[in-house]
Amino acid sequence: MTESVLIALGSNIDRQRNLPRALALLHRDSRWRVLAESPIYETPAVGNGPQPDYFNAAVLLETDLSPADLRRALRRIEARLGRVRTADKFAPRTIDLDIVFVKDRQIALNGGLLPDPDILDHPHLAFPLADIAPDWIFPGVGLTLNQIAESLHPSAAEIRKMTTDARPNIKMLSHYGTDQIFEAEDNEVYDPEFEELIRQILVRIGEDPEREGLKRTPLRVAKAYDFLTSGYTTTVAEVVNNAIFTDGCDEMVIVRDIEFYSMCEHHMIPFFGRVHVGYLPQGKVIGLSKVARIVDVFARRLQIQERMTNQIADAMVDILAPMGVGVVVEASHLCMMMRGVQKQNSSTITSAMRGLFKKDARTRAEFMNLIRER
Ligand code: ZN
Repeated sequence: MTESVLIALGSNIDRQRNLPRALALLHRDSRWRVLAESPIYETPAVGNGPQPDYFNAAVLLETDLSPADLRRALRRIEARLGRVRTADKFAPRTIDLDIVFVKDRQIALNGGLLPDPDILDHPHLAFPLADIAPDWIFPGVGLTLNQIAESLHPSAAEIRKMTTDARPNIKMLSHYGTDQIFEAEDNEVYDPEFEELIRQILVRIGEDPEREGLKRTPLRVAKAYDFLTSGYTTTVAEVVNNAIFTDGCDEMVIVRDIEFYSMCEHHMIPFFGRVHVGYLPQGKVIGLSKVARIVDVFARRLQIQERMTNQIADAMVDILAPMGVGVVVEASHLCMMMRGVQKQNSSTITSAMRGLFKKDARTRAEFMNLIRER
């Protein structure tokens, strides 16, 4: 079911960068469509002593995700932007991405109510929302968002609309710089539902989730999984980020020994190894480091080696339209090694050939020779 949802954004740590980054990430995600984006407002922080002012905004999107799944996706974007959730709901933050209103619905989500009753009292929520969904009626109250915003009469000190000139530029985000998310901070709250599932696994395997060493394990696992499965929320277009150049070069380009770590979809246990990618350009080449990023997009998911190999080859074809592409993956599978099914030093090799690499034995042989050379 496709639903229209309003998301409220807020940032008061490095807000000049973080708010536009969050907007950029929302625009790029294929699991929803952004229909409207509000102007940015500057507002003072609510509660908890002096702290920096906020940038606030709101986005209207359309999605097939359930509110719970959408919430999880938003938490991942927050984590990428360095957000650490704590029990203190007023603490300064790099970014806040909250579902505040699902059209024509009144629901409970993770202990809170939707639409968020705070909309009725807080200009930093009501104003941006009224800009993009003026006619939505707040159930039970019977007022439109526009009427709610008009009823609040905030002073200029309470909310200030940023002019278009003052609007920060959207800088492209490399989330690889902000992946230090494996450690758990005191009081951190990350994804309570996911953490509860991990706690249940611990109990089921005969552990005591309350013992010292395991207390914050569910939190760490939740964060680790977000990272290890970040391929689901990353697109090839995003990582390539226009690093494609026109070039007359028609020699084979090879990027060899790209390290990767993935998890097999049958056991959710790691497999890892190296990827070799070669292509014959046809007017377009790509920055070498980007090839490794493309590998990560497909490795950081639950995978089978054959599919990952094909996906990397197809992505190269899509973005470069080259004369041909070859991908070879050598991997060790812990799910086999740990059970003794596979000898410790053996590896599984898969390949995917496209275009000339498939049709022309000499091209293929040249590629295979070049990746074997030591
Ligand atoms: Zn397996």
